[in-house]
Amino acid sequence: MTSTLDGFLEGEDGDITYPVPVFVIEHPEGLVLVDTGLHAELTTDTSRLGPLESMFSVDLAAESSVGPTLRGAGFDPDAVDRLILTHLHFDHAGGAAEIPNARVVVQADEWAALGDELLVELGIYNPADVDLGHDRMEVEGDHDLFGDGTITCLKTSGHTPGHQSVRVQTEAGTIVLCGDCCYVRRSLDNEHLPNFSIDRDQHLASIRRLREEQKAGATMVFGHDPDQWATIQAEGVGPGI
Ligand SMILES: [Zn+2]
Repeated sequence: MTSTLDGFLEGEDGDITYPVPVFVIEHPEGLVLVDTGLHAELTTDTSRLGPLESMFSVDLAAESSVGPTLRGAGFDPDAVDRLILTHLHFDHAGGAAEIPNARVVVQADEWAALGDELLVELGIYNPADVDLGHDRMEVEGDHDLFGDGTITCLKTSGHTPGHQSVRVQTEAGTIVLCGDCCYVRRSLDNEHLPNFSIDRDQHLASIRRLREEQKAGATMVFGHDPDQWATIQAEGVGPGI
């Protein structure tokens, strides 16, 4: 997608073009997906974005929504067991329809925000993206997904009411999927907020929380960082890890 850089890093000029990633984690108890990217309909028609349509330029190639992307990487979307949603914005929850059998894992206050009529009217949430009858686990605060410390939801509110990041313990080390708490590396390094957060103080506190994760040795994966995406496998995130 492309949008204003100010929307990522307040006060900066110009636009930024960036990836919209999803992450697969293979765990002995099941296949886990973190986020779902964009709704497949956006390949040809962006009207479902409503008031946001003019703010985001979407470049989603045919057959590149989450279902075909997973199949192309050798995973069956129907076999995803848990779907962790960092939050419910259209570029994170938009592909939920293509992951039909998973139990959705979401912060309770994020799910509650889906019922906020003003946020829906503004296009910030679209219940049609995600309120699809999935089995759902609403969590409050940090949550150890399988009780073994390998996959932990870290509550990092501020971007949205119930945003969560995901810490993954692998044999190769610790990875933290920041989600939109940190769009890009500079969000974390410089504690540089975007031009809008649902709660700026909370957002800053959450960035500081993730800085502690980084200090403890975690590899940080930013939500939409085009520079990091170009080199991400060299950082130890990628197939086989
Ligand atoms: Zn977001």
